Amino acid sequence: MNFPVQFAYLIATALFVFALKWMNKPETARRGVLAGVTAMLLAVIGTLAMPGIVNFGHIAIAVVIGTAIGVPLSRVPLTAVPQRTALSHAFGGLAAGLVGTAKYYLWLGEGAGQLPPLRIVAISAEVLLGFLTFTGSLMAAGKLQEIIPTRPVTYRNQNLINLSLLGIAVACAVVLVLNPTWQWLFPIIIVLSLTFGVLLILPIGGADMPTVISLLNSYAGLSAVAMGFVLDNKLLITAGALDGSSGFILSVIMCRAMNRSFTNVLFGAFGAVAAKSAQKVEGEVKSISPEETYAILEGARSVVFVPGYGLAVAQAQHAVRELAELLEKNGAEIRYAIHPVAGRMPGHMNVLLAEANVPYDQLYEMEAVNRIMDTVDVCVVIGANDVVNPAAHEQKGSPIYGMPIIEVDRSRTVIVLKRSMAPGFAGIENLLFYKENTRMLFGDAKATLQALVAEFKAT
Ligand code: NDP
Repeated sequence: MNFPVQFAYLIATALFVFALKWMNKPETARRGVLAGVTAMLLAVIGTLAMPGIVNFGHIAIAVVIGTAIGVPLSRVPLTAVPQRTALSHAFGGLAAGLVGTAKYYLWLGEGAGQLPPLRIVAISAEVLLGFLTFTGSLMAAGKLQEIIPTRPVTYRNQNLINLSLLGIAVACAVVLVLNPTWQWLFPIIIVLSLTFGVLLILPIGGADMPTVISLLNSYAGLSAVAMGFVLDNKLLITAGALDGSSGFILSVIMCRAMNRSFTNVLFGAFGAVAAKSAQKVEGEVKSISPEETYAILEGARSVVFVPGYGLAVAQAQHAVRELAELLEKNGAEIRYAIHPVAGRMPGHMNVLLAEANVPYDQLYEMEAVNRIMDTVDVCVVIGANDVVNPAAHEQKGSPIYGMPIIEVDRSRTVIVLKRSMAPGFAGIENLLFYKENTRMLFGDAKATLQALVAEFKAT
């Protein structure tokens, strides 16, 4: 590899590392995205400048096809980003699988000497992880888009069957390492990997899909690492390792935020458990009008907004900021409480509120806001449900028992903005709605917030 290409790869690697670091904080997130895009551009230019590239015609065709698929994918609404991300992983996995397959047959044609054990190990890992990521991610995208049933599909001895399938695929790869010219084994590995990807996702419910997508992200990264070894490309190895480890860390963070273990997410069939455990709740639901809500908010000195998935659906981020500004002018201290798994993807609420220019210093993480919750006058819950459900503390046997929540019920008054008594993503009743200090303000979150803004402006 010549010096300019090596240099471009080195800068790209550094930028990928900084991109991850900067994306950790809302203040530097934009810089992080820019660094990631620049790194990718450098990586592509560096690769195109390599002497091994012989057919620019084929590359141009691939660019046209990729652009035709990529541009519409970039225009999906924010609520559909998880399934869009799953599709990106599917393409990444497919690319790795196809590159591994092409390389195996190319080297096979040049003679068994081209297929030493280490190379076959790398190719097998790439193909196995690549193809299982491909079908697994397609399944995950299908479940999130509700093209296929979101509920967990379970059958007897499921885990045993799935793990045996994976075991056979790995065994075939081991035999191929020992006998590199037994090419009939290669299609078997491909078919088993594709099938395993489907079976892995079948028993996982829609609510756990974002965590699984993050895990598939990690598999896609690992297959890129293997591809880096196959193609002898150091940038692929480092970028793949960053992708693999960050995806894994993110899945661990999400599991912790839901108080669930990895094995429970992968093998626990969470949606099925939730349906079975529905139980009757004591207490009375008290609804409230926008006029009455205005009267409460007007006298409040400390207000916490708790956004959830419904804020994204209603696109109410600008309306909430407008109301917050009016409350601030009225002398109230404003905070936004962010639960790590509110919405449908990590950072979902941060992105929405940043879009509406909500000041970063008003965003509080769950632990920080829970510490001061007893001093809060009013909590306004906007389209959040599971992340404020006291069942997580009070109802042993609830599927979310033990999950850390934003403890809005400890504030003086809670006002919940949602359209109906429908449950959230976990599919369970919310004990908060029946509490003495809770009032339900029914309606679309944006329309309700706009009505409250109108009340303030009218006075
Ligand atoms: P939930 O899915 O629990 O609840 C959302 C609520 O929004 C619903 O109850 C719905 O009630 C309401 N809603 C929908 N549309 C509107 C609207 N237009 N106006 C007003 N309200 C609306 O959301 P949360 O954010 O509280 O919880 C997220 C869930 O997703 C958790 O269970 C979490 O574990 C799960 N999850 C999230 C991940 C992430 O990364 N963020 C990852 C994995 C899982 P109604 O229909 O009555 O209006």
